Amino acid sequence: MVRTRFAPSPTGFLHIGGARTALFSWAYARCHGGKFILRIEDSDVARSTSEAVEGILQAMDWLGLDYDEGPFYQQQRMERYREVIAQMLDEGSAYHCYTSPEELEAMREAQRARGEKAKYDGRWRPEPGKILPPPPAGVLPVVRFKNPLDGSVAWNDRVKGRIAFCNTELDDLIIARQDGTPTYNFCVVVDDWDMQITHIIRGDDHVNNTPRQINILRALGAPVPEYAHVSMILGDDGQKLSKRHGAVNVMEYEADGYLPQALTNYLARLGWSHGDDEIFSMEQFRAWFDLDHITPSAAQFNTEKLDWLNAHYLKTADDEDLVRLVRPRLAQIPAGEQPPLAAVMALYKERVANLNELANEAAVFYTDAPTSPESCALCAQHLDEQSRPALAEFIAAAREISWEAPAINALIKQTITRHNLKMPRLAMPMRVLLTGRAQTPSVDALLALFPREMALERLERGIGSCSL
Ligand code: GLU
Repeated sequence: MVRTRFAPSPTGFLHIGGARTALFSWAYARCHGGKFILRIEDSDVARSTSEAVEGILQAMDWLGLDYDEGPFYQQQRMERYREVIAQMLDEGSAYHCYTSPEELEAMREAQRARGEKAKYDGRWRPEPGKILPPPPAGVLPVVRFKNPLDGSVAWNDRVKGRIAFCNTELDDLIIARQDGTPTYNFCVVVDDWDMQITHIIRGDDHVNNTPRQINILRALGAPVPEYAHVSMILGDDGQKLSKRHGAVNVMEYEADGYLPQALTNYLARLGWSHGDDEIFSMEQFRAWFDLDHITPSAAQFNTEKLDWLNAHYLKTADDEDLVRLVRPRLAQIPAGEQPPLAAVMALYKERVANLNELANEAAVFYTDAPTSPESCALCAQHLDEQSRPALAEFIAAAREISWEAPAINALIKQTITRHNLKMPRLAMPMRVLLTGRAQTPSVDALLALFPREMALERLERGIGSCSL
């Protein structure tokens, strides 16, 4: 049974890199019929906040990354960590160390002076035949892990291939501080063990933690999971992704009007591929995902491609779904909602890049924008002695036709022919009088969007209020 986890530290919002790690871990569990576990790594009390936890949960929810177990909180597992530390002390795989910070500093200085790498020298490490000094009075010890002294620790990383570290490079890691609180790497190990994690998919900034974690797992007699360290994400400019590149907080994409399907599809392709497929659903992704097609090299963020995907998902979105997403982005809509918001969505969803643009386009239908001074000025550019009577005639005749785009179109054509006008001379003032904008979808569809009387009233009122 595959069991994966996403283990964010709640020290900030969920960023793009974390979201991709979560997505990959989620997909791997889903594709193998396994379990996906959410674990909040809040052992660092000083840096963890409940707002960050909330933000992470909200972002997971928005992205559609459902988890089968958790969220587990490390803060609630302190008893368990203490228990394992006691067990390790008991079994001899960990020991008390009384070295003071001053002694440690002196030790490091001496090592540096000898041209050696600075590391704990094992002075409190018990060994057969070694006599340890008596513990100094009044000093609280830390607990250190007894790392193997020789040999190496290696794993076949599912993304990066074989990685090996010499044990001589690793010193005896502190697993509990003087106050008894467990340290980061130790909590991760106990959690992965207890939660029976089989595959750890995480950012490659954790590669250096892995040999330490494997050694502790082995000392505990715990199975060693598989590791897949995913490379970092670079910004559009090839530099490390940061705030400079715009949004890095996942929920900023929500605020900017991206659809979660667009972002998950985009992130899925960021460092992973399935042939040449660019557009695929979460269902396809969870069926196709594998670790073999994750690229070991860094992936570069491409905002243009994300925008392209967003436009695609907007275009193909269900109108009612768009209503639900756009309504909160609009001011109160007058009672009666004419034209219906769903109809506006249907007409505009192919023309916009994001939900905010869609809301912006929709807003004009529920305000008096068409009679604003700007609209009147715009209208005056197109409405003159020739087009004005044509428009008046259109309004009169429009009461007699069936109020649908084809009939409206036929009447517009008939009117411009009778008045010997080119299409824009009539269509442009209509656009402006209906929406306050010169850029709209085709004018017949636009007119048909409104109830007849409402459309004609906007045209009439517009002609009246625009001084020509
Ligand atoms: N809590 C770590 C982080 O947010 C992840 C640890 C892990 O995946 O092992 O970077």
